[in-house]
Amino acid sequence: MSTDLSDNALRVALVAHDARKPDLVEWVGANFDAFRGASVYSTGTTGRRLSEAMPSLNITPLKSGPLGGDQQIGAMICEEKLDALIFFVDPLAPMPHDVDVKALTRLATVYDLPMACSRSTADLIVNGLMR
Ligand code: PGA
Repeated sequence: MSTDLSDNALRVALVAHDARKPDLVEWVGANFDAFRGASVYSTGTTGRRLSEAMPSLNITPLKSGPLGGDQQIGAMICEEKLDALIFFVDPLAPMPHDVDVKALTRLATVYDLPMACSRSTADLIVNGLMR
């Protein structure tokens, strides 16, 4: 568990498609200081990978993405329970979960939630919001 959870802790959803999970784990590790006081919400498999690599992260696990975890994140966006969404999508896959990405992109746009689908954009969010 995080050592520095306060009422205004940042609430960040972290998701990655299978081929991008190692990239997300590496990216969170490289930005670990920014996540110390954050509440992280992750889809099932992504969350397990992050917990294994960084057991001190404060992660609330959701269902696996294809089983509804992405839609749980969508519900959190529309209930304004998130401050950012980092979703490392796999642009080289034949887009089997494209509808989930589209739904989250639409809601993040509706609610003006910072959303990153790539490392450089995630860097901008982490630098702008979380430091
Ligand atoms: P997963 O879901 O973390 O359970 O693999 C990610 C996704 O495909 O949305």
